[in-house]
Amino acid sequence: MIQDPVNVPKLFGSMVFNEDVMKQRLSPTVYSSWKQCIADGAPLDRSIAHDIANAMKDWAVEKGATHFTHWFQPMTGYTAEKHDSFITPTEDGHVIMEFSGKELVRGESDASSFPSGGLRATFEARGYTAWDPTSFAFIKDGTLYIPTVFFSYSGQALDKKTPLLRSMELVSRQSVRILRLFGNDTVKKVTAQVGAEQEYFLVDESVYYKRDDLKLCGRTLFGAKPPKGQELDDHYYGVIRPRVAAYMKDLDTELWKLGVLSKTKHNEVAPAQHEMAPIYNNANAACDHNQLAMELMKTVAERHGLVCLLHEKPFAGVNGSGKHDNWSLTTDTGENLFKPGKTPSQNAQFLLFLAAFIKGVDDYQEMLRSTVASAGNDHRLGGNEAPPAIVSIFLGDELVEIIDSIVAGSAYVDKKKKNLQIGVDVLPNIPQDTTDRNRTSPLAFTGNKFEFRMLGSTQSIAGPNIVINTIMAEELRQFADQLENSRDFQADLQKLLRKTFKDHQRIIFSGNGYDESWAREAERRGLANLVSTADCLPAYVSQKNVDLFTKNGIFTKDEMTARNAIHLESYCKVIHIEALTLIEMVKRNILPAVSRYSDALSTSLLHRKEAVPTASFKVEETLISKLSRQNSALLDLTLRLQKAVDQAPGEDAGYAQANYYHDSVLSLLNEARTVIDDLETMTSKEYWPYPTYSDILFSV
Ligand code: ADP
Ligand code: MG
Repeated sequence: MIQDPVNVPKLFGSMVFNEDVMKQRLSPTVYSSWKQCIADGAPLDRSIAHDIANAMKDWAVEKGATHFTHWFQPMTGYTAEKHDSFITPTEDGHVIMEFSGKELVRGESDASSFPSGGLRATFEARGYTAWDPTSFAFIKDGTLYIPTVFFSYSGQALDKKTPLLRSMELVSRQSVRILRLFGNDTVKKVTAQVGAEQEYFLVDESVYYKRDDLKLCGRTLFGAKPPKGQELDDHYYGVIRPRVAAYMKDLDTELWKLGVLSKTKHNEVAPAQHEMAPIYNNANAACDHNQLAMELMKTVAERHGLVCLLHEKPFAGVNGSGKHDNWSLTTDTGENLFKPGKTPSQNAQFLLFLAAFIKGVDDYQEMLRSTVASAGNDHRLGGNEAPPAIVSIFLGDELVEIIDSIVAGSAYVDKKKKNLQIGVDVLPNIPQDTTDRNRTSPLAFTGNKFEFRMLGSTQSIAGPNIVINTIMAEELRQFADQLENSRDFQADLQKLLRKTFKDHQRIIFSGNGYDESWAREAERRGLANLVSTADCLPAYVSQKNVDLFTKNGIFTKDEMTARNAIHLESYCKVIHIEALTLIEMVKRNILPAVSRYSDALSTSLLHRKEAVPTASFKVEETLISKLSRQNSALLDLTLRLQKAVDQAPGEDAGYAQANYYHDSVLSLLNEARTVIDDLETMTSKEYWPYPTYSDILFSV
């Protein structure tokens, strides 16, 4: 994989059927029809689709592709693909490469094995995929990938892309309404922009394959704290070691070929932890690209004898991995609606969008929290590293002061000590880029965008962005409804801003989110504190949330119930698999290893007692009795864990099933872990059957 820096512009997007390629390969009529379809969201004409399919196929075949696939994002949060070759037999027994408009636009697949949460009974197992012409097709491993949406026979969304596209359309429509109120008649479309920073761990494959827990669960289920972890802060932004650098270079090459705007790479806080951040893009492309990035991070690692761990918490005691979802709204004229303006009137518009965001997050905090809930992320949120499980917004001192003065109706003293009376038509100048950074906040305003930091590293970014777009659109709609009929726009705007900031100030928090006192303070403010996924599941389908999504046409009630059922099922399954994995590791390897070691100690003790009866045998005697005690404690715990798993309620139990796995299985897993970690520190390395944290975290 040669990466000639001069050639990066040429390399970039070389495997993407993008606008440039379309311009070159499509007739002007076909090209402009496609453009029109993107602009209006109108369906493509059959014959146009056929011409595009043909051009796509010719281009792909020239680049060595033999197959095509409708690439989609089922509700598992992963991606799915089924490959069909382009071959079509001819009468003389040969084949030619063909691809029709029909094949491009629509696919049909037996979808009975994808989780549907009850949306699709197996007797009508068919799922349909339809081309998403707003996302470019690309070639990977000899196959032409066509990004598609995935839905059932009756039209229900079975994927993550459909609702994301719906929410983008919605937030655009409501934003444009607001812009009209400020006299902007040119903007036709507003786009949700997203930049998703992705964290990951890299470990050597040799240690990975020796740990069944890493292989089966993606995380270690035990492992004593190593003498050195992240306490010296020497890894964060540290020099990237050559092997990791080679991996990152290779990864960039692959991402660039597919048009992913990979921009930043660095070492993260924990040993063996790294990050990749792309330049932001529209939410749909950002979501597709994040899926590709996660996939390529894994496959490129294999080429380097490495394994990429995307789990939220592969190792206890050091930081886990998350994803920062940077979100903003921009107009088709290039304006970022979250950029504080230079004039008071621009700022009035900015403050209205800000007010909508603040109100939306406050009104739907449980929904936002639920959208990042998973068994893996539960190990992070509320721990001492990631943001707390309580949703709040950090705005920075200046914005907080401005909001305070709007609420109080008092004068605002800006940084240059200028006194600004916040009156009917004067809003303060908002200094740009003065926000300081609060690393503990789950949702921080960072100058011209919001950074949602609660996402888990494995999850699709679709869910959180669907929610942010929808709550934003909902609040903007309410504002537009009120202001469109106003007789005195300025006065009503002021009133609305003041009321909104006043009513929703409780969600703004500038302090340390890791501090214990915050949980108490948040409770006093009436903010939700949904600690685990089991707590989030009922919140996700509360009446308020169902109303929000159904009213706005993002999800039907059935689609939401289905998604919730899938989350519940996967939460329980993950903990179930972890329990079985731990039981097996303990029974087959840990108990026998500790016994063997105790046995060796005992034999040597007997020999030494014979040889030198008067010597001290304190070390051996203490160790042997401690090992025996802890090993039998571990046996007891394992048996209890087995029993707990055997007695677990089934799917019919609903939320009770999730609560059971949380309260009765996970807690035993944690108890067993403490004992195993203790045994690990007492057992000679020669006998311990698994690589330790030092072995794994410093393996690369
Ligand atoms: P950090 O210090 O958190 O890494 P950066 O400025 O490097 O912050 O940006 C992080 C991510 O935010 C990048 O993916 C970047 O492209 C994205 N980003 C920057 N501006 C915007 C914006 N206006 N809207 C959405 N994402 C943005
Ligand atoms: Mg960030």
